Amino acid sequence: MSESTRHESLHDEVVRVARDLIRLDTTNAREPGLGNETLCAEYLAGYLSSYGVECELVAREAHRANLVARIPEASTGSTGGGAAESLAFVGHTDVVPCDPRDWTHPPFEAVLDDDGWLWGRGAVDMKDEVAARAVAMAELARSGFRPSGDLWFLAVADEEDGFADVGMRWLLEERTDIRPDHSINEGGGERLVLSDGRQVVGLSVGEKGTLPVTVTAVGEAGHASVPTLGNNAVPLLARLIPRLGNGMPEPAATPMVTAMLSALLGRDEPDLSRAVAEAEALHPSLRGSISALMGSTLAPTMLAGSNKRNVMPGRASVEVDCRILPGTTQADVEAQVRALLGDDLAYELSWPEAIVEASSSPFGGPVPDAVAAFLAAEEDPATVLPTMCTGFTDSNYLRAAAGTAAYGFSPFRSTPVEVLDAGYHNANERVHVDDLLLSTRFHIDLAQRILGG
Ligand SMILES: [Zn+2]
Repeated sequence: MSESTRHESLHDEVVRVARDLIRLDTTNAREPGLGNETLCAEYLAGYLSSYGVECELVAREAHRANLVARIPEASTGSTGGGAAESLAFVGHTDVVPCDPRDWTHPPFEAVLDDDGWLWGRGAVDMKDEVAARAVAMAELARSGFRPSGDLWFLAVADEEDGFADVGMRWLLEERTDIRPDHSINEGGGERLVLSDGRQVVGLSVGEKGTLPVTVTAVGEAGHASVPTLGNNAVPLLARLIPRLGNGMPEPAATPMVTAMLSALLGRDEPDLSRAVAEAEALHPSLRGSISALMGSTLAPTMLAGSNKRNVMPGRASVEVDCRILPGTTQADVEAQVRALLGDDLAYELSWPEAIVEASSSPFGGPVPDAVAAFLAAEEDPATVLPTMCTGFTDSNYLRAAAGTAAYGFSPFRSTPVEVLDAGYHNANERVHVDDLLLSTRFHIDLAQRILGG
């Protein structure tokens, strides 16, 4: 069979698997009976086991199973050397809710249009990547791949909400044998065509954490018929909020920011503010995103005052969404907020939720090296841009439980970043099918580079 014929069939295969997955409604929301990720886990287990891949469904709730699949380390008969390194392909099988009335094509019909666009809920988050990783597993197994260490495929439930705790966090606690050294998950691979014509693709090396803080202005209650009575906390709060400014941290050359700037500018620019301004001007999607990685961001979102119109409240509060870098503590955030608010108005701080620590993996190492090598081998004009997600992914749990060097990457060459961003958690989610094959080929290449065979 010729090379092009083989790729053609792999193309058809990954499109079929992606469409099948999209048609399984695994909407995740906090309502009984939702999730149903077992549909995807069973489908994938049936598909992969037909090619000899070890498959197991691991479920805390019967309808919300995780798939654990593996091509085990080939025994070499050698007794020397250290433990072989292992790799995990990672994805989640749940999707966020959608309203079909907002869609051009029904979200669970997996319509493939004449221009090669596959439409549906999960087309980019992330049944596309789940399909590519599954087909890569199948192709490796069919071709007799004998990895030097375990190759895992973890297709897990409940990433988008997490409240039920039936997905990755629970799975890693339950199954202490799943401790991959390296992993590849969602969160990167988007392609930016910069204003000077150069191209970069994002490689996600970490996720910011969260530590929301509530600021409560403290005054004295009074009857609203005489506004000068007491000390209404609402106007006090209205004076405090602007002191948070634009919510961006002070400029600081963190390792992440330094790596991003050198990848974007291609040179060392000693003036940090100038470097950030220049780099963020290279693409609309970069605007603000480098600045936000310099420290803790503060975005006031939820307001609470009086619950009765004729009562001026003694307390009024704002909940501030705060995203933190690895290593940031509650004391750090408190010091930052108090410095901004000053000490001339009475207020209290409280912490409505426990800290979710940020985590990150090294910019270098086997997975980043393999990503760069794949781009070079493809004669792709893009270079790698290390990035950090401002949201959350299951990579956090892998780093915490297993010390995994966990990354987000799946290459997109035919789906513009504008299309990715527009569909993400939104209506009319779609992916170009050429990227399904590209991602499949990337994952085969990644396993071969890291696990030999
Ligand atoms: Zn996702």
